[in-house]
Amino acid sequence: MPPRFNAVRKTGRVVSRRLMRRNSTAAMRFAEAFSRHPVLAGLIGTAIAISMAVLSFAALWQGRAQALQNAHAASANLVATLSADIARNVESSDLSLRTIVSGVQDPQVMALSPELRKLVLFDGATAMRYVGGAFVMNREGRIVVERDPSEHTDMLFNDRDYFKVHVAHPDAGLYISGPYASRLRKGATSLAMSRRINAPDGSFAGVAVIALNTEYFRSLLERVNVGASGSVFIVQQDGEMIARKPALTSDATAAYVAKSPSFSAMKDTNSGSYISRSPLDGVRRLYTFQHVPGTHLIAAVAPAEDDVLASWRQRSIVIGGLTLTFGGCFIVISWLLAISLRSRAIAQEKLQRLAGTDSLTGLCNRRALDRRLDEEWRRARRADQPISALFIDVDYFKLYNDTYGHMMGDDALIAVADCISNSARRPGDIVARYGGEEFVIVLPGAAASGAVTFAERLRESVEALAIANSEASKGVLTISIGCATASPRQSDDALRLLNSADAALYLAKRAGRNRAIHEGSVASDGA
Ligand code: GH3
Ligand code: MG
Ligand code: MG
Repeated sequence: MPPRFNAVRKTGRVVSRRLMRRNSTAAMRFAEAFSRHPVLAGLIGTAIAISMAVLSFAALWQGRAQALQNAHAASANLVATLSADIARNVESSDLSLRTIVSGVQDPQVMALSPELRKLVLFDGATAMRYVGGAFVMNREGRIVVERDPSEHTDMLFNDRDYFKVHVAHPDAGLYISGPYASRLRKGATSLAMSRRINAPDGSFAGVAVIALNTEYFRSLLERVNVGASGSVFIVQQDGEMIARKPALTSDATAAYVAKSPSFSAMKDTNSGSYISRSPLDGVRRLYTFQHVPGTHLIAAVAPAEDDVLASWRQRSIVIGGLTLTFGGCFIVISWLLAISLRSRAIAQEKLQRLAGTDSLTGLCNRRALDRRLDEEWRRARRADQPISALFIDVDYFKLYNDTYGHMMGDDALIAVADCISNSARRPGDIVARYGGEEFVIVLPGAAASGAVTFAERLRESVEALAIANSEASKGVLTISIGCATASPRQSDDALRLLNSADAALYLAKRAGRNRAIHEGSVASDGA
């Protein structure tokens, strides 16, 4: 008898090889992996969106640090400029003081006429805009020589701190006093820069003084722009405020500065910066300070943190908002994609199942049989186990159809299929409708004897259904079974196994039907 399967199998192989080649591209494999694990698509999309958001927020945070750093750098430049201006003025005043001191100690200068002596003692620097006056005081504290004439004849200045310092400390050098209300200039607030004058024997002979209006510091600070809520100030190391922009409302608030914990950091370090909440107005500011060289003054610039970060905040709100919006959309789209992939995978699986299922009996069809037989064959070869196939054909089924009609014929086929299906219970067993009233059962791991026993039990079960087939010799519906067994390690393909089972079925038919025959040997005869 000619083999029934070669043509179909060969065509199937060529097509499947082509398909495999086409599917083997990386992109396809990737897409397939996604469709198999739709949740992965959602998770990866979520992870990407979160990573992008984290990166974006890290960049924004970095931008904040950069804005603060830039503000510190700008403040440091401002403070350096302020400090240099004050230091230059103090230095030039000190030079003038030295000229006055050396002049007063020189008898030749003191012997000059008052007008000439004034010209020698008070150089150009003492005529600067913010210098309120330049004086020489004797040991009692009375002004004996001065740059500008004034009503001071009976005034004593020995109560001033600078006077007391020079009396007590011969080596005080340049002394800069705290702010005081000038008695000579209608209470104008001034700082006194002073040097001691020694008598030839080294004893205290008086003090040379240059009075600097604190207006100088205010005008200096006026030129500095520190934003709407920033502040800039010149403060003494003892905490006494010399000038501040914006101006302080009362002396009490000025005293508060000295007591603030952040001021001690400013006092003890030559220069630096820190962020602190102002004890005066509660505004958080970025303080950058520097001690003015040669003085006990500290220049500080403190822009408000809110001003410094205003544009960064605006940018962050826009970028952060867009990041969250796009990230959220990306996550939603990822999960929508995941859901649609999942539905597609379910539909595809259902379609595949349907494509491999016989619509009448619900058993595997030939396509599914080919695929599963191939799998089981390779598995049996790996495990070195036998595999058996049963080819089943309903006897005299044409007669049945002719007698009871095609519809009844369908019902009978379903009943036989259920019976066959119930008989094969092991997980690897394959039950397929081969076509018409023909079925195939594949029993992986079953040797010849097992297959024959199984076939005989199946034949009996179908006969026991007692489906009347009045025109058939037995009077009921029966089946004939051809069995074959192969050892996949030794045999080269599964087709030979089916062909052998088909050949055995042919023998069973010829031997009178309603029987199971195993590859040439009559196993049982129910006839
Ligand atoms: P044998 O004992 O030699 O197998 O005889 P048979 O009559 O069973 O064999 P034959 O090949 O001559 O007839 C098979 C019949 O099965 C013919 C066809 O009408 C019937 N048949 C095939 N498929 C179906 C089906 O899906 N439904 C129904 N009702 N009948 C079918
Ligand atoms: Mg047939
Ligand atoms: Mg038949």
